[in-house]
Amino acid sequence: MIDFGFNLAPSSAVNLDEIDLSRYRALLRMEPDARICMGCGSCTATCTAGPFSGMSVRKVLLALERGQHVEVNRMLEGCMLCGKCMMVCPRGINTRHLILSLCRIKQEENYD
Ligand code: SF4
Ligand code: SF4
Repeated sequence: MIDFGFNLAPSSAVNLDEIDLSRYRALLRMEPDARICMGCGSCTATCTAGPFSGMSVRKVLLALERGQHVEVNRMLEGCMLCGKCMMVCPRGINTRHLILSLCRIKQEENYD
């Protein structure tokens, strides 16, 4: 094999027939506004905990859509519930409440 001096990134494709979307569906029932996130990243840019813990509401929503529960749990642990992300969201999503709902779902349904 020819060494080009770089590696291809591992595939990030997910098989939609195999991933578990139950947690995302549960969130949409509690927080329908999660549908209108446009992934702008304003929440991530202003997150107090982001630089230290990797927390990002945008990434949490993406990970939920991809059925990546471990990543979601890891990011949720870093949130301080300060609410800064909520103040900058251009779609007016109550991201702080969304995070609280996710924590409630995690507690009730024991996703690990
Ligand atoms: S700021 Fe709002 S619209 Fe933008 S990524 Fe975050 S939750 Fe989505
Ligand atoms: S509420 Fe959580 S996600 Fe939002 S800015 Fe604060 S630490 Fe970040």
